[in-house]
Amino acid sequence: MTVATTCPYCGVGCGVLARANADGSVHVEGDTQHHANHGRLCVKGSALGETVDLRGRLLHPMLRASDGTLRRASWDDALDRVAEGFRRVIDQHGPDAVAFYVSGQLLTEDYYVVNKLAKGYIGTANIDTNSRLCMSSAVAGHKRAFGEDVVPGCYEDLEQAELIVLVGSNTAWCHPIVYQRIAKAKESGAPPRIVVIDPRHTATCESADLHLPVKPGTDVWLFNGLLAFLFQHGAMDARFVEAHTEGFAQALAAAQADAGDPAEVARICGVQLTDLLNFYRLFARCERTVTLFSQGVNQSSSGTDKVNSIINCHLLTGRIGKPGMGPFSLTGQPNAMGGREVGGLANMLAAHMELENPVHRQIVQTFWQSPRIAERAGLKAVDLFDAIGEGKVKALWIMATNPVVSLPDADRVKRALAGCEWVVSSDIVAQTDTNAYAHALLPALGWGEKDGTVTNSERRISRQRTFLPAPEEARADWRIVCDVAQRMGFAEGFQFDDVHAVFAEHARLTTYRNHEVQGNDALAARRLLNLEGLANLDRSAYDELRPVQWPVVANGEGATRLFANGGFSRANGRARFVTTPARMPVHATDREYPLVLNTGRVRDQWHTMTRTGKAPRLTGHIPEPFVDMHPHDALRCGVREGELARVQSRWGGMVARVKHSGGMRAGNVFVPIHWNDQFASDARVGSLVNPVVDPVSGEPEFKHTPVSVEPFPVR
Ligand code: SF4
Repeated sequence: MTVATTCPYCGVGCGVLARANADGSVHVEGDTQHHANHGRLCVKGSALGETVDLRGRLLHPMLRASDGTLRRASWDDALDRVAEGFRRVIDQHGPDAVAFYVSGQLLTEDYYVVNKLAKGYIGTANIDTNSRLCMSSAVAGHKRAFGEDVVPGCYEDLEQAELIVLVGSNTAWCHPIVYQRIAKAKESGAPPRIVVIDPRHTATCESADLHLPVKPGTDVWLFNGLLAFLFQHGAMDARFVEAHTEGFAQALAAAQADAGDPAEVARICGVQLTDLLNFYRLFARCERTVTLFSQGVNQSSSGTDKVNSIINCHLLTGRIGKPGMGPFSLTGQPNAMGGREVGGLANMLAAHMELENPVHRQIVQTFWQSPRIAERAGLKAVDLFDAIGEGKVKALWIMATNPVVSLPDADRVKRALAGCEWVVSSDIVAQTDTNAYAHALLPALGWGEKDGTVTNSERRISRQRTFLPAPEEARADWRIVCDVAQRMGFAEGFQFDDVHAVFAEHARLTTYRNHEVQGNDALAARRLLNLEGLANLDRSAYDELRPVQWPVVANGEGATRLFANGGFSRANGRARFVTTPARMPVHATDREYPLVLNTGRVRDQWHTMTRTGKAPRLTGHIPEPFVDMHPHDALRCGVREGELARVQSRWGGMVARVKHSGGMRAGNVFVPIHWNDQFASDARVGSLVNPVVDPVSGEPEFKHTPVSVEPFPVR
């Protein structure tokens, strides 16, 4: 039987039609009815059928014996041990001595129950997610500007835009179907102009009318300069600014002070003045402008300010909430957005409520009928692993992620896990760099086996549906969490019959919040995350659910664009211009580490390659880790293209093959994030990355670590 499901990789959230064949193979094709992709799939999505076999799968619960070996255990034993481990630490050290580190790979229902367990029952907000690493600066920027974490637009805006600005995003490789939509629009009778802002000349530049290869970390100067230019050249929508915003004068004054002179901005950003002015003039002229941004903006010690400097330019011109315009954050993972909806970040509660707002806490606790509710924000990802290393957090449950590879200063993460009293990992894969440190391994269901919902970058909720049998003893993540919760003594809140019951409770909470919030908390009353139209779905309606964008009102209809009437989620209904003083990345290059390391994805791999690494046609694209560098830098470092080199920072080192793509600025190198000790030795770029984070969002600075490159082995 063919089922309509959703791709488990990037945040584009493409619809997939999937079928298990009698010979054991799996057929996939794009779903023509899904609004995200209209039948298209990129190479990763097309190869999904080649990645679902059971090679390398974790199929049974495993417990580590006193001699250090992992032994198969029954589910009852494993669940008892996991529950006992957490209970023991809580009893001895309190609820904040335990933590959860979860993932944008989880389905919304999984995310909901684990947040409920941590925040409402154990009473700790020490639950964070690997989505912290890719989009938390966008979340913080949205909240500061709009009062709520809301992406205002939709993919169709790309086809209606006159100008598309792509900032810090190799869209062609990292969000390929969005890029294909842009490329198709470029072939239409009214093609949009395309500007790419990125230190690297990537595949995305192939469609660009203009590429601004900015120096890493200078985006705020660029957009502050744009704000000043737009004001000076009469592009301001004064009526919109007056009626629907606040904070304009302060933000403008700060932008003019930093970046009032375009020649100085061009110098700081390292771009040609004529190119900079061409961009500024295009932006001023084109009413229908979409600014897409991604990790190059978010993964920075000034990531939140970068996001707000972009949003400020859209607020100044009133270009938001209407067809073909708006700031647009592309999320990295398939369900980063769904996780945000259920409070997947350490500073959030479910239904877009704030953990540090007592009214919000009371609403959630009353709805859950939970014994307690965490009262202060928990530790964000990097701080959480630091707290483990310092012995403050003594028990950790990792779900569907591989932090020993993906976090910055990854060797420190390794040491922290090695010293942690109780580490549990639920995963589909048996051997990962992280699982090597787990005391208990719990086998989870993978794509095609599990059932639930995800939300993509344009707020569209889609179903992931089952079309493969559960292998051996693997179980759904939400079920595993409920089983552990009940063994910890929390019977009442975790008696869900099926995944539909979890979703229904999540949807009902948004409705309950709307009814409970009184006029003294107008901020919450205006929340746009509203699933009222989905709160009473029965099981068969849930099974049949077609992709829909939230808010979903009572008749089940979704909303394509938000803020059309100029009303925002803040208490006074106004969007806020945020003052964004420009600053350079925290660690500068020096004689010892003269190059700037930038990290990111390649076209055909996903995260730490536990799935895409299985498909030969994907591994054939780029078979090994590389360091892409400018030929002049290579000459200075004494390395040649095709040779191995050691890339070293103050925090760690790795080995990679030297490559000249022709796209690097002098002084910059690029290394992909995917490879790890399961595929090649000494290949985790995370071990080099500085553990600096944005002070507002906690997102790490993956795009700017000073490094050196030298021949390997050293000659
Ligand atoms: Fe999957 Fe993203 Fe490719 Fe779509 S663009 S098929 S969601 S990886």
